[in-house]
Amino acid sequence: MNFSKRVSRISVSSTSAVLAAAARLKAEGVDIVDFGPGEPDFATPEHIKQAAITSVQGDFTRYTATEGIPELRRAIAEWHARELGSDYRPEEVLVTVGGKHAVFNLVSSLIDAGDEVIIPTPYWVTFKDVVTYASGECVFVETPERDGFRLSAAQVAAAITPRTRMLIVNSPCNPSGAVIPSEELRQIADLAREHRFWVLCDECYSHFVYGDGRPFSLGSLGRDYLGQLLVVGSLSKTFAMTGWRAGYCLAPKEVVQAALKIQSHCTSNICSITQKAAIAALTGPQEPIREMLKEYSRRRDYMVPALNAISGLHCQWPDGAFYVYPNVSSFLGKTGIHTSADLAQRLLNQARVAVVPGEAFGTLQHIRISYATSTEQLEKGVERLRRLFESL
Ligand code: PLP
Repeated sequence: MNFSKRVSRISVSSTSAVLAAAARLKAEGVDIVDFGPGEPDFATPEHIKQAAITSVQGDFTRYTATEGIPELRRAIAEWHARELGSDYRPEEVLVTVGGKHAVFNLVSSLIDAGDEVIIPTPYWVTFKDVVTYASGECVFVETPERDGFRLSAAQVAAAITPRTRMLIVNSPCNPSGAVIPSEELRQIADLAREHRFWVLCDECYSHFVYGDGRPFSLGSLGRDYLGQLLVVGSLSKTFAMTGWRAGYCLAPKEVVQAALKIQSHCTSNICSITQKAAIAALTGPQEPIREMLKEYSRRRDYMVPALNAISGLHCQWPDGAFYVYPNVSSFLGKTGIHTSADLAQRLLNQARVAVVPGEAFGTLQHIRISYATSTEQLEKGVERLRRLFESL
C-alpha cells in the first residue's frame, strides 16, 4: 500500500510500543513490574472529578468554541501567572487535547520544509516525529550526561545556522529528569531574540522539581520576550489527569490563530466536560500537586542509590519529572544484547520488568525507568533488575 511521504517518515511512538508489549503480557496474567508508564499513578483529585460530574448533570455536553471556553482560557492565563510569573492574555491561550496536541499544532503552524529545529538529546520522542512530519530538519544537540543532561546556552549557540527556525526545550526533561538552570534559559531566550527563532518550551513537568528547585517558565521574563516564545503546558501530569486530555499553548495571538486553523479542521474543541474539570483543577486547591511531588521525591531518593548499587549501572540524579535514565553501556555487547532495545526486551522477557530503551529518546546507552509507581513495585522491580544484571 502507498502511504503519503509525510506519514511514511514517522513511526508509532516507541514508548507506546513498549507499553503495549507489557500490557499484552499483563493481560495474559504475567506478573510484570511496569516501569514504562509516563503518567502519575495517583487518582485525579476529587474536586476535579466532581466538577466533571456536575457538568454532565448540567448538560454541558455540546460543542464549545474550538479554542476553549473563555473561562478556561482565562483560568489558564491566571494560573500560569500565579504559579510561574507570566503575563499572558486569554487570547494568547489555545486549549488543546493535551500538550502533545499543542506541540503538533505549533510545529505544523510554523515549520516548513528545510527549516531547522534544534532538539536536545535525549528528547521526548514526539518532538522528533512531529518535526519530521512537518518536513522540518531536526538538528540534535547532545546534552552532557556527566552534567546531568542539562542543556547550556553555549550548546544552543553552536547549533544555530541561518536556517534555524525553532529550538525545543523540555525542562524538567522526559526522559532524563534534567532541569535547565534558569540563567541558561534566559541566555537561550536572548539568543532566540538575536537570531529570531522560536523557543518552544514544553513545561509539562514544570511542577515536579526537587530539592531547592522551583518551577520556572521563560514566560516570566516579561512581555518583551513573548514574541519568540511558545509555551506548551498540560494538566496531564500536574493534576494526574492523563486520560482527560487537557493541555494548552501560550503564544502570540497570531500564532494562536494559525494553530486554531489546524485545530478547527481536526479535533475542534477539547471535550466540554474536561474543560469544566480543568477549570476546577486550575482554580481549586493546589495541595495535590505538592503531595505528589513529596511522594515522587521520596521515590527518587530510593531509586537512584538502589540502581547505582547494581554493579555496572550508572544513574544520574534527576532534578525533576519522575524518571531516571541510567547508563547501561557496560551491559551492551554481552550475551546477544547489542542495543538498549535488546536489553529492554531481555528485561521484559526474562526479568519481567518493563522499561523504555534509550533509542526511543535518541541515545543508545540508556534505559528509561519511570518511578510513577508504588514503593512495593519499585522495590520488587529493582530486585529483579539486580538479579538479571548480575547474571550478565
Ligand atoms: N511533553 C512531554 C515531555 C511528555 O512527556 C508528555 C507525555 O508523556 C507530553 C508532553 C504530553 O502529555 P499530554 O499530551 O498528555 O499533555
